[in-house]
Amino acid sequence: MEFLFSPLFSSSSGNALYISAGGVQILVDAGGTGAQMEAALKAISVDAGTLDAILITHEHSDHIKSAGTLSRKYDIPIYANPATWRAMDSKVGNISEKNRKLFNQSFYIKEMLVEPFSIPHDAADPVCYAVSHGGVKLASLTDLGHATKRLLSKLEGASVVLLEANHDEHMLKNGSYPQYLKQRILSTHGHLSNVMAARAAHELVMLGVKGIMLAHLSEQNNTPEAAYQEVSEYLKKNGIEVGRHVALNVLKKECDALVYHIGGSV
Ligand SMILES: [Zn+2]
Ligand SMILES: [Zn+2]
Repeated sequence: MEFLFSPLFSSSSGNALYISAGGVQILVDAGGTGAQMEAALKAISVDAGTLDAILITHEHSDHIKSAGTLSRKYDIPIYANPATWRAMDSKVGNISEKNRKLFNQSFYIKEMLVEPFSIPHDAADPVCYAVSHGGVKLASLTDLGHATKRLLSKLEGASVVLLEANHDEHMLKNGSYPQYLKQRILSTHGHLSNVMAARAAHELVMLGVKGIMLAHLSEQNNTPEAAYQEVSEYLKKNGIEVGRHVALNVLKKECDALVYHIGGSV
């Protein structure tokens, strides 16, 4: 059974991940504009009208920008937990009753298992998602101030984890962001730094994760090179060889229509 995914957008300005497995197609977040989302889906030959669901991690605009627009235009259900629905209701506009899906725990979309896990971030009730089908698990872990062992243990055995490497602490502290924003990002409910991502990546590899994609990079406070170097050097120091024990990539802000296949034929 084919399991595909394509990170459409990944940065502090917009996030959306397309996943297709077992005949189910979903988006995790819809943080581009409607036109950007349609173009990105078209570039990977996906008709937005065939999507089965949009899952929302939390109500920040870089994750929900076009959720309402896409739901209305293509009649797509939106899934979020109750507190996130309350927080984003006024931002996503009018959503038909049948497309308002609420969950409190793991659920299925047809044969696809969706597991939400709480994450520490400054939103109403933020979650990350692990999606499984046919013994393959893919998880996206972004927008969190710190990664606990307990949270990481939920992703045990995932084939691929999209892992936040938001900022280089030095660049952030010396950059142009206002002080309050720097503090917000650096807080335990802000975003993962490259150093924190490196430690989390090490834990994930120890838990059997075979592929890590660094995600949600800040355009101002990070570079793909800095993120990759921090994580790969930390792994190396701990006896993990990139390319042999784990595949490591950095996602670009706009992901150039790249579709990744896990555990199936290409
Ligand atoms: Zn956020
Ligand atoms: Zn975000």
